[in-house]
Amino acid sequence: MSHCVFCAVIAGEAESSVVYDDAHTIAFMDIRPFTPGHLLVVPKTHAASLSELDPDDGGRLFRVGQQVAAALRDSAVEAEGVNFFLADGVAAGQEVFHVHLHVVPRTAGDGFGLRGRPTTPPRADLDYLAASITGRLGGADA
Ligand SMILES: [Zn+2]
Repeated sequence: MSHCVFCAVIAGEAESSVVYDDAHTIAFMDIRPFTPGHLLVVPKTHAASLSELDPDDGGRLFRVGQQVAAALRDSAVEAEGVNFFLADGVAAGQEVFHVHLHVVPRTAGDGFGLRGRPTTPPRADLDYLAASITGRLGGADA
């Protein structure tokens, strides 16, 4: 645990600029912000990936994300909009292996964004993938 930078922040062993703190969840300013005011929402119980994250902690993560997004839009942060971003896995861009939700204030022309070339695949391809995913949701409470 001592090698996890977010666990160190939670333990008060690493410097941070905290904006929210309760029994389960903490939010603090990202030290390498995509845009000014970019902050991170982090569950206090260490989970390296979404698959390890307690769903209740996941729910709290989103709830706190909503709260801090509303607060920052009301604050000195310049925010015409907000993006949530969560990277799960190396290929997704995850760099700290303790689940965290990025809350990124957005302004027109700030240059932040996802890159890709969306095209509309055939319905049969969408249906095939949807069925494959649905088949693995068995037992999930939805
Ligand atoms: Zn951790």
